[in-house]
Amino acid sequence: MGKKKQAVIIDGRQVAAELKESIKKEVAEMIDKGDNGPHLAAVLVGDDPASETYVASKEKAAHAVGMMSSTYRYPADVSEKELLEVVDYLNNDDEIDGYIVQLPLPGHIDENKIIHHINPAKDVDGFTPENVGKMVLGQPAFLSATPYGIMELLKYYKIPIAGKHVVVLGRSNIVGRPLSILLSQKKEGANATVTLCHSATENLGEITRTADILIAAIGQPQFVKADMVKEGAAVIDVGIHRIKDATKKSGYHLTGDVDFDEVVKKVSFITPVPGGVGPMTIAMLLKNTLLAHKKEIYS
Ligand code: NDP
Repeated sequence: MGKKKQAVIIDGRQVAAELKESIKKEVAEMIDKGDNGPHLAAVLVGDDPASETYVASKEKAAHAVGMMSSTYRYPADVSEKELLEVVDYLNNDDEIDGYIVQLPLPGHIDENKIIHHINPAKDVDGFTPENVGKMVLGQPAFLSATPYGIMELLKYYKIPIAGKHVVVLGRSNIVGRPLSILLSQKKEGANATVTLCHSATENLGEITRTADILIAAIGQPQFVKADMVKEGAAVIDVGIHRIKDATKKSGYHLTGDVDFDEVVKKVSFITPVPGGVGPMTIAMLLKNTLLAHKKEIYS
C-alpha cells in the first residue's frame, strides 16, 4: 500500500503577506508619481474591545502598505441621525477612497439603515445592497473581504473547484451566503456545485461527507469532526473562537469550527486557526481600498 500523503496546511499569513507586498509596491509607485495614494477610513462606535482590536489592526495594515487611514470614533450613545451624518460626510469627502463601519453597532442604531446609506463606490466591505446585488449577478463589485480572501486562497493553492462539490456550512450575509454564490458562478476559479447548509439542515454529516471542498463558517468551536469529512477533501475553517487557556500568557488560545488535529489526518488541504482565513480578510480590505482609489469597480 502506498504511503498516505500528508495534508497541505494552507498558509494564509504567507499568501496575505505576498498580496500586501504587491499592494505596497503599487501604492509606492502611485506616490512616486505624485498621487496621494489610497485612503481608508473606519467608523468605530463604542468601546467594544474586539471592535477596537479589529479597527486598530486594519489601521496598522493600511499604514504598513503605505496607505493613509483615519478612524472616526463615537461614543456608544451616538444617535442614528448623527451617524448618518458621518456617513454622508465620508460619502462626500473626496480625500477618502473607501471606508468601513465597524459592526456590530449599538442596539438603538439600525445597522441596515447605516449600511444602506454608504456610497457603494466607497463600500470596501462590500456590504451595501448594490455591491451584494452586483456580486450575485456576476458583475464587478466590492466583494466582502472574508469570502474574497477564501476565493484567493483556493486559487493560490490551485485547489480544483470547477465541477466539484463544495459544501458551505453557514449562510450568514458576510461569509457563507456570498461564498456559496461566488463558488457557483459560471466563471474561472468557480463553477462548483454548491450545497449551502445551516442550522435546519437534516443529515448534515451525510452531506458534508460528499464534499470535495468543505467550508465551515458556523461559529461552533471544533464542530466539524473527522467522520464528517471525505478522505482527501479540502477543508477551509472560517471560525475563530477564544478558548480559555491558563497555560497561555494571553489567558486564551484560538480555535476554529473544525477539529483540526483529527481532520488534518484525513484531508488534502486544510486551513489552520489562527493563520488560515483570518490574515486574508484584512489583506482583501486593503485590496478593495486600492481598487476604490483606482476607480476600477466604479469609475
Ligand atoms: P453567524 O453566526 O452569522 O452565522 C452562523 C451560520 O451557521 C448560520 O447560518 C447558522 O444557521 C449556521 N449554524 C450554526 N450552528 C449550526 C449547526 N450546528 N449546524 C449547521 N449550521 C449551523 O456567523 P458568521 O458567518 O458571521 O461567522 C462564522 C464564524 O466565522 C464565527 O466563528 C466568526 O467568528 C468567524 N468569522 C471569521 C472571520 C475571519 O476573518 N476569519 C470573518 C467573519 C467571521 P442559521 O442561519 O440557521 O442560524
